[in-house]
Amino acid sequence: MLWFTKEFFPSIHGRLKAIHFVPSFRITQFLPGHGNFKAYLKRFNLSRADLCSCSSEEIQDVNHLILSCSKVTPARCLRISSLKKNNLAWPPCFSTLVQNKTCFASFCEFIDSNFTHII
Ligand SMILES: [Zn+2]
Repeated sequence: MLWFTKEFFPSIHGRLKAIHFVPSFRITQFLPGHGNFKAYLKRFNLSRADLCSCSSEEIQDVNHLILSCSKVTPARCLRISSLKKNNLAWPPCFSTLVQNKTCFASFCEFIDSNFTHII
């Protein structure tokens, strides 16, 4: 299991410098991976399955939802396009998703627009 928060903010110093980072209800679930995700819920016997509804093989966790869930492919394509316009690669290092005000706003929009059915 990844330590998700560290993927977004590798250092405390980096987090403290990110004054644009204003946590929201959904973002605070995505960063640590402690949210209403089937993989997380299954760990506590709150869900019988950890698989995402998009597939019979994909575990629904933060990594899957951000990088590969087919339910949000069109929105992800827009994010990929946006990152590429800013000379950022896909798949992104998660820290690039929160590295500045523009990237963070784009990431928040992606989360808030596409995962209301989950969290
Ligand atoms: Zn999925």
